[in-house]
Amino acid sequence: MEWKGRRRSSNVEDRRGERVSGGSGRSSAAGGMLLSLFFRSSAKTKLFIIIGGIVVMFVFGITPMSVLNFLGGGTGAPTVTREASAPNDEMAAFLGTIKADNEDVWAQLFQGYGKKYRPAKMVIYSDKTVMPGGLADARMGPFYMPVNETVYIDPHFFREMRERFGAPGDFAQAYVIAHEIGHHVQNLLGYTDKVHGQQGRVSKKEYNRLSVRLELQADFLAGVFAHHADEQFNFLEHGDIQEAMNCARAIGDDTLQKASGGRVMPDSFTHGTSEQRSKWFMKGYRSGDVRQGNTFEIPYGQL
Ligand SMILES: [Zn+2]
Repeated sequence: MEWKGRRRSSNVEDRRGERVSGGSGRSSAAGGMLLSLFFRSSAKTKLFIIIGGIVVMFVFGITPMSVLNFLGGGTGAPTVTREASAPNDEMAAFLGTIKADNEDVWAQLFQGYGKKYRPAKMVIYSDKTVMPGGLADARMGPFYMPVNETVYIDPHFFREMRERFGAPGDFAQAYVIAHEIGHHVQNLLGYTDKVHGQQGRVSKKEYNRLSVRLELQADFLAGVFAHHADEQFNFLEHGDIQEAMNCARAIGDDTLQKASGGRVMPDSFTHGTSEQRSKWFMKGYRSGDVRQGNTFEIPYGQL
């Protein structure tokens, strides 16, 4: 795909170069002990500790947030230190550009429906990073968090796609990002709340089916993005759509279950089969029409 030379999104925070440590019960116990020592000390000592603390934070690049997390305890809050600045590399340029492409396409589509599009945020990180309620871990793969409207991505996942899932190519990567932004679009349109609101109210099997509907719709929306982005930027090259289809197949629930040596268990699917995922992406790409992404309306067996 052609991606160089276009606008880069400003809604991207690159946290590569940060190191997250702790997150165990021990650090919060230590934090609690330090807090109680602080409160029992004299006013003069308190002032000394505060000024000393600020100097230490400044010297070691510790953020006030990480200190609060550490002292807060309870959940075993982690500490964050910045060890290096985020690299201004090709990956940063690529992610920033694809993010901007998504913003441009969705802003225009929303406008067409008389709605205003609010861009998602994107956090690029390496290995682990702090998110609301805990830690994002690279092993989770890229994901979207509705509560702070943020996509979290460790670019090492792209290597895993190439080497473990056999899904190489820059447009396969763009599809993954567009899928996550698709989740943001679903959040803005109210689909996410509808599904999450059913958690605990319906059986596990039924909830998994709702999850499949949501995920296939995100694949569909990624296809809708590809359709309009290509109209706007003329960025698709020969083989690009194939790359995205191949990726959608590689991360289908049935394929992943087979690859991990297990039995294929449709009731445990949360994202849809390889067939379904590639089909819905293609439907979005061919039509470019958001209204055709009716994954919640058609019978489950016909998805
Ligand atoms: Zn998803």
